[in-house]
Amino acid sequence: MLGLRRYKRTQIDIWQGDITKFAVDAIVNAADASLIGGGGVDGDIHAAGGPEILEQCRRIGKCEPGFCVTTSAGRLPARHIIHAVGPLWQGGSSHETATLRLCYENIFKTAAQLDVRHISIPAISTGAYKFPATAAAEIAMTATRAYLDAEQSAALKRITFVAFDGDSYRTLQEQLFERFPDEIDEFDL
Ligand code: ADP
Repeated sequence: MLGLRRYKRTQIDIWQGDITKFAVDAIVNAADASLIGGGGVDGDIHAAGGPEILEQCRRIGKCEPGFCVTTSAGRLPARHIIHAVGPLWQGGSSHETATLRLCYENIFKTAAQLDVRHISIPAISTGAYKFPATAAAEIAMTATRAYLDAEQSAALKRITFVAFDGDSYRTLQEQLFERFPDEIDEFDL
């Protein structure tokens, strides 16, 4: 099944694969606050993109959870990397939900500043940071809908959520269809 919706002239879709291969204006990295790279998608991005990315991260220093910083994409086919720091899941009582929502808000804000038209975003915080996948996907789609609702005419024309595995794909797709029901498709085009 193809996970795809169109809303207010922006396409929102789900792809399964390795985000380092995406030739888009900006890919998002699920970074940690130290910006020095780690495992998961962060490790893959630094390994494939080369040392230039880490050098820029070192110069920036660090980044608080909920916020993001930008570097070039080194050897990757994308143009920019938006390094977003998601919350570490600690049971749900440490503002994790609000921090993840803020993270998505800042990603969209940063993308607008960079005039990004196509962005690819991984399932932030759902790996080593242990945020429950369904709740994280719901936040991702709710924040996307809120961003597009608030924009008269978003520069972002395509938002691709990247799932690394089949479970993540299905979860993201369910939440996409939940937040962007089919009937808004024709209505808004
Ligand atoms: P976090 O520390 O924010 O949880 P992780 O990298 O551990 O970050 O995991 C975030 C999500 O990214 C997980 O769903 C994981 O399966 C996925 N992921 C890992 N590597 C890649 C990759 N190369 N491309 C896309 N997604 C990836």
